[in-house]
Formats: sequence, structure tokens, C-alpha cells
Amino acid sequence: MLVSNSMKRKELTPEQRERKRLTQRAYWERNKEERNAAQREYYHRNKESIRTKQRVVNREAYKQQRIAILAKFGGRCVCCGESTEVFLDVDHVNGGGNKHRKQFRSIHSYNQFLIEEAKLEDFQILCKNCNYAKFRLGQCPHQLDARF
Ligand SMILES: [Zn+2]
Ligand SMILES: [Zn+2]
Repeated sequence: MLVSNSMKRKELTPEQRERKRLTQRAYWERNKEERNAAQREYYHRNKESIRTKQRVVNREAYKQQRIAILAKFGGRCVCCGESTEVFLDVDHVNGGGNKHRKQFRSIHSYNQFLIEEAKLEDFQILCKNCNYAKFRLGQCPHQLDARF
């Protein structure tokens, strides 16, 4: 008997339900502003440590992407065989690399493209030296066997 009475009290007319919904919504909106202000305040107070953490996360993500990219495209310079990670770049076989890269909003999304979508025949690994020589001379001296 008690239970059914209390259940009855909770039954609302459509108007009451609508009013309740609006009240809750207004409350939520008011709270949202407070929540945002609190978040801003928290960020402001902890800016340095948040940024440092973010940098660490980004650096780690970048490292993981580089490992995946280099593994996918062979892991060494196709010209001279250099395999030290920091010396290696991903090169567009048919040129136009800079223009293509600019279509991505960040290095992370470009790297993600290289990992997930880039075709093996369109990209190759070159070391900084061979990449620069290809950029400046059109072909790396290694390929001409004309070192000077
Ligand atoms: Zn090389
Ligand atoms: Zn070379």
C-alpha cells in the first residue's frame, strides 16, 4: 500500500514533466558554466605540469608512429642502407612531398596516414644525406657512384 502510494506521487502530468525537464536543463546549463570555469581555473593553475605531461604523451606517440612507419617502409635508407632512426626520412618516390604534407593538419595525422593508408610503392625511406642529395641534385651521388 505504501509503495503504490509513493509511486502514485511520482506520476507527473505532461506539463509537469515538461517543467521538470526545463528546470533540470537550466540547472545543468548553470552547472556547465561553473564546471567550465572550474576546468579553466584548474588548467590555469596547473598549466606547466599539464603541458609537460602533454609533451611527454606527444613525444611518446610520435616515437611509436615513427617506429611503425619505418617498419612498414623497410627500416633503412633505400640508397645507402643507413638504419639509425634519427637519420631517416620518409620520401615521396614521385616528389611533391611538401605539398602533400601540407594537406594534413598536423604531423600526427600525416604520420597516421603513412601508417594506415600510404601505399608501399609511393613512399620510401631515405636518410637525411641521401634525401638532401636527391633534393639538390635530383639524384644521390651514391646512385651515380660518383662521389666527390
Ligand atoms: Zn642514405
Ligand atoms: Zn645515397
